[in-house]
Amino acid sequence: MKPGARRLTGTDGVSHTFDPGSFALELILSGGPPPWDRYETLRTTTDAAAWLADSYLAADFPLTPADVRLTEAELERLKEFRSILWRVVPPLTGGEVPGVTPGPLTAADRALINSAVAATPAPELDDHGVLRRRTPITGDQVLGAAARDLIAIIGTDQVSRLRMCEGGNCALMFYDTSRPGNRRWCSMQRCGNRHKVGNYRTRHTT
Ligand SMILES: [Zn+2]
Repeated sequence: MKPGARRLTGTDGVSHTFDPGSFALELILSGGPPPWDRYETLRTTTDAAAWLADSYLAADFPLTPADVRLTEAELERLKEFRSILWRVVPPLTGGEVPGVTPGPLTAADRALINSAVAATPAPELDDHGVLRRRTPITGDQVLGAAARDLIAIIGTDQVSRLRMCEGGNCALMFYDTSRPGNRRWCSMQRCGNRHKVGNYRTRHTT
């Protein structure tokens, strides 16, 4: 599976692949405020390293969990950033997430984001002069990558590409990277298909 695309299982037990479209949006999938804390994936720094090795961070250079090293404090900062996402992103998509109080970006949020961007995963040349990523990647570099990603979206006209899946009872949020900018669903396998089936039923019952 492409790094950053995640296999999710709905409450109905059905699995589907979801591509959040960006690293910042992907972080939302790793857990969140109650009632979403039951999906917490980043319980320990080891859990976080394993999760990050499959994330958008590995899109350009493959990563192993050993390539990502976080301290407890760095993991806490990353989760603090994630809670900003939960508050700020839903209103920008025009949608609502049950149980989450939406809100604007505060001065404190901006300060956290702006101070985070200085650290970011660095490229380097290996012994053969070939580009690779410098490892280990620290927790602050992970946060920096997510913060840069977020800024490039919400600080520009790209913000209009933040979406919430149009499926009923689906609150999955993504950054639409499709060329025409017309992505509507978390995944065609799931909500897209249900919509098609729904249309079909409507047509055949009316
Ligand atoms: Zn959906």
